Amino acid sequence: MTSLLNSQLEFDRDHIWHPYTSATEPLPTQLVTRAEGVCLTLDNNKTLIDGMASWWCAIHGYNHPTLNSAAESQIRDMSHVMFGGLTHTPAIELCKKLISITPNNLQHVFLADSGSISVEVAMKMAIQYWQASNASSKTKMLSLRGGYHGDTFAAMSVCDPETGMHHLFNNSVNKQVFTERPKARFDSKFDPSSLTKLEASFDENHKTLAAIILEPIVQGAGGMWFYHPEYLKRVRELCDHYNVLLIADEIATGFGRTGKMFACEWAEIEPDILCLGKALTGGYLSLAATLTTPKIAHGISQNGGVFMHGPTFMGNPLACAIADASVELLLSSPWETKLLHLEQKMTRLLRPAKDISSVVDVRVLGGIGVIEMSELISVPQAQAFFVEKGVWIRPFGKLIYIMPPYIINDQELSVLCSAMCEYAELIDARKSV
Ligand SMILES: *Cc1c(COP(=O)(O)O)cnc(C)c1O
Repeated sequence: MTSLLNSQLEFDRDHIWHPYTSATEPLPTQLVTRAEGVCLTLDNNKTLIDGMASWWCAIHGYNHPTLNSAAESQIRDMSHVMFGGLTHTPAIELCKKLISITPNNLQHVFLADSGSISVEVAMKMAIQYWQASNASSKTKMLSLRGGYHGDTFAAMSVCDPETGMHHLFNNSVNKQVFTERPKARFDSKFDPSSLTKLEASFDENHKTLAAIILEPIVQGAGGMWFYHPEYLKRVRELCDHYNVLLIADEIATGFGRTGKMFACEWAEIEPDILCLGKALTGGYLSLAATLTTPKIAHGISQNGGVFMHGPTFMGNPLACAIADASVELLLSSPWETKLLHLEQKMTRLLRPAKDISSVVDVRVLGGIGVIEMSELISVPQAQAFFVEKGVWIRPFGKLIYIMPPYIINDQELSVLCSAMCEYAELIDARKSV
């Protein structure tokens, strides 16, 4: 048994890429054999309470009977057919739901196969719209430092230029326009001077700007930073004033994670283009969507124009059926109360970390809890510690953070938060010796 495991892990290490790793010196991996509810089971039968929801996706937990049955029933009808010239009920029902729960102005849906692709699609929509409107000089994107929008080339071009991968692909990544990370904290009084640079960027660049792309309220993989809704409101006004489209990337924040169904609701704004992904299928399959307004959709389509994108697995019926069931499951649950509860619990449970001297900040919003340390965290060390404690938490940079499945109970949440605080203390203790 052990030797089978060892040979499997050996093969994995020698031949399979994992995210952002070296082929010759990869970080260690755990072999997971099952996932159910909020728990991952490892090959040695150890179970881990999952704090990551598989990178924002598994909002209902794993192996959910409702999603399983949606998948099983769809697979018996058809798991895939091409979307060119064909359509089907799973796509229609899902798109109806997405239109009904997203801001009112969004009426047209493009189904994409991953978050990064939905970002590419959003950028293409913006550029094609201005081209069709005789403003073909508007091709650039304005983006915020600290943002993350995916790993494909166009998506990379709007990621933070430092933590993103621009230095590796310097001449192959399009040059976009960047402005500073929104400084105004979500939970502080709004300081209007935090808009100065943003306003200047619009003023200087609007003639060449097709759109601004941002993650509303929560910058995720670029630093788990929560900023003030007033900033987002002002972005909307600037976009209207300067004729720049607003692309809201809610791939991480969508479907309740910040305490609102979509983070744009914190500022009561409607984007011109919205990207959804991650939790869309409840973590079952890769699926994403780009929604836009009649103005943009009709603009692109005027004079015989067509929108130029069409992936092979567009509108995959299996993914759509599961997504439809997942959204329904969310809507029929008391998700708002639950997220408020998670926020209150995490706020209380993570508070002790504030007293640790190597902790720079502790912040919580909706179902996201973050401890920011003063120094970079060693992922392999942290991973070993957390697995030993029976939790699945994977820090990045200086951040120890969780965004667990919404179905997590108080006891499980408290195990996660204690482990986070303990690890912060351990880092602190190591530093002071
Ligand atoms: C994860 C993420 C993406 C990329 O989605 P993939 O499915 O990994 O391609 C884009 N934007 C945001 C905000 C994300 O969190």
